[in-house]
Amino acid sequence: MTDLVFLTGAGISAESGLATFRGEGGLWEEDEDLRALCSAEGLAAQPSNVHAFYDARRAQLREVAPNPAHVALAQLQERWIREARGTFTLATMNSDDLHERAGSRDVHHLHGTLFAALCAECGNRLGWEGELPVREDCPACDAPALRPDVVLFGETPRHRHALEALATKADIFIAIGTSASVHPAARLIGLARANGAVTIEVNPAPTGTADILHVLCGPASEEVPRLVRDLLAGAHAVPF
Ligand code: NAD
Ligand code: ZN
Repeated sequence: MTDLVFLTGAGISAESGLATFRGEGGLWEEDEDLRALCSAEGLAAQPSNVHAFYDARRAQLREVAPNPAHVALAQLQERWIREARGTFTLATMNSDDLHERAGSRDVHHLHGTLFAALCAECGNRLGWEGELPVREDCPACDAPALRPDVVLFGETPRHRHALEALATKADIFIAIGTSASVHPAARLIGLARANGAVTIEVNPAPTGTADILHVLCGPASEEVPRLVRDLLAGAHAVPF
């Protein structure tokens, strides 16, 4: 049995046309103020700008499609489970829905999702499409408190403890398209490595993370399908 844990970041969706935050062409490069905006303080101080930013990101989701990296991970999950080869965990820091649209199931969205609204008053979550006005009423508690269901800077990532437990038990931990500098990426990779996992990174610009044993240097749309083929062919075919 081989327990697989994948952690994906903005880089896996870059080739679908969604800009990353850091790196070449990243959103931070375009506008440094964005970092302050996409924070708990930003939401409190200028909610309409924050809602508008995420409205635009949500609208952009309709213009893009999963790429071969998302598709390969969905196919791997289906076969890994069907053939009882071990456990399969997919965690993402992305708020897009490209993993789900490629067919992945039970995706852990560490940083929330663009396609849901969260009630700041009662914690209710509901699917959301289109624009999310400021002070929209929550259908559960009637408070005018719906906000984007994304984790802002200064807020706590979700599913942290469950994922730390899974990372500890991983046989192979694969980080794809993440600069690994944001919480919780670095900690999860470190935990996996400390517990004996083979740690792999897929990135066209290797991050130099100390706990990564193997770097697959190239775009996710090429490296991930290749890695998936190797994993399905049997551990002996994986090139490390
Ligand atoms: P990041 O923006 O910090 O880093 C992106 C990484 O992806 C970089 O290391 C870059 O070299 C790499 N990359 C670029 N093109 C790639 C490709 N074709 N294939 C593989 N890797 C590629 O992203 P992060 O580490 O995920 O952290 C930023 C935070 O912002 C996260 O929460 C992130 O998910 C979020 N974010 C999400 C989206 C989205 O939902 N699509 C978009 C932007 C930012
Ligand atoms: Zn509510």
